[in-house]
Amino acid sequence: MFKAIRIHTRIGRKAAMAGAAAALAFAPNVQAQRTQLKPGWNLFSVQQDIAVGKQNAEQAEKQLPLCNSPKVDAYLTQLGMKLVAHLDTHGATYPWEFHCVNDRAINAFALPGGYVFVNRGAIEAADNEAQLAGVMAHEISHVALRHGTNQASKAQATQGLLGITGGLFGGGVSGALLQQLGSFAAGGVLLRYSRTAETQADISGTQVLYDSGYDPRAMAQFFEKLEAETKGKNPPEFFSDHPSPDHRVDRVDQEIAKLGGPPPNAKKDSQEFEAAKREVMNLPIVKKAAPGAGGATGISKPEAPSSSMAAYQATGYTLRYPDNWKKYGDQDNVAFAPDGGVGNDSSGHGALAYGVSIGTQKVRDANAPSALDSATQQLIEGLKQSNPNMKVTRQAVRVRLNNQPALSTYLTNDSPVGGQETDWIITVMRPEGLVYIVCTAPQAEYSNYDKTFGSILDSVRFK
Ligand SMILES: [Zn+2]
Repeated sequence: MFKAIRIHTRIGRKAAMAGAAAALAFAPNVQAQRTQLKPGWNLFSVQQDIAVGKQNAEQAEKQLPLCNSPKVDAYLTQLGMKLVAHLDTHGATYPWEFHCVNDRAINAFALPGGYVFVNRGAIEAADNEAQLAGVMAHEISHVALRHGTNQASKAQATQGLLGITGGLFGGGVSGALLQQLGSFAAGGVLLRYSRTAETQADISGTQVLYDSGYDPRAMAQFFEKLEAETKGKNPPEFFSDHPSPDHRVDRVDQEIAKLGGPPPNAKKDSQEFEAAKREVMNLPIVKKAAPGAGGATGISKPEAPSSSMAAYQATGYTLRYPDNWKKYGDQDNVAFAPDGGVGNDSSGHGALAYGVSIGTQKVRDANAPSALDSATQQLIEGLKQSNPNMKVTRQAVRVRLNNQPALSTYLTNDSPVGGQETDWIITVMRPEGLVYIVCTAPQAEYSNYDKTFGSILDSVRFK
């Protein structure tokens, strides 16, 4: 009976009224007011979510240490599919996969299309099955609400770039963007959620827990526990990808009230959970890269930049770069970096440690007298939002680039190789928008790159 009502409320009020009027008479109308959620605006199709997710998942499986425990994988899959059975996918069918990562950091992530990775640390930190189910219900909700590609769509539309360290490979929508999002290095944009997306995943996750018969408070309890245990310490990775929205627990409690309150016989734990937890606790510990390396993968101290230069031609400009560097991305959103200069930071997000990235940001009124100043300020504000430790160390100064008025700004940020990096940003207003060139190197090695950065900038010719 309950089930019938649930299905009817999902397909909409009208259908519920017409079809379930009789059923409603037999059961209290406890679920009619559950919060209705829908995926937001998206440039991608569901099929593209799956394609992007699959490509990223294949890379993640190669780059991350997996638990390689058939028992634990089977347990996660069984638990995951039990939750998926109660997830509203808005008509889409996803090829769900659940993987265990041999990483003791308390984290989990879900790529678009349904590829879910749970760190052993999350299993070890959960007090019971309901808490683990809570984390997983939250993750699969991000998939069903298509938050990853919704964010990529917004980044593309408002900025024309995917952020510099969070996924520097911007580019044209469709083909080029898809190709770039297919790189695990672009994970930053797919996996760093907004607080609004977090609240939605919390609400949907609570509904899934409730409908699966778990204590619906377990998800928020787990997040609270994580926050309390790590107060004053480095927050767990989970919160850098899933920022805590305000009043998280209150909002979840409200939803539980809408659902009719915690069910009396809610499931909390299982023997299978306890067995899987014992199993992961016995796995060998995989050491992350040495602390000095910042936990980054794929990044190592590069060879010195060659003084002989290669040419690059974009739609709006040409430039030259050291011929022992590689080009990443294409068109007007590119990066040039030496081998070892690009990789993933400790949370698996794409990062450029050494090199130059160039992008174009759309500007509403490019002809306004102060357009260069205001667009530059906007760019830097945007960067600071996605890089909370980024600071301006030298305010914008007027310079010229290929005889065009330009601004030169210096910033510092956390380097993916540990310590601080220097980011030198040159901005120029062009008919296609604000062109920005970012020269990046670790602070301690910056003087080895200053001259190369200067040569690259001197070689820029606008069309
Ligand atoms: Zn989240």
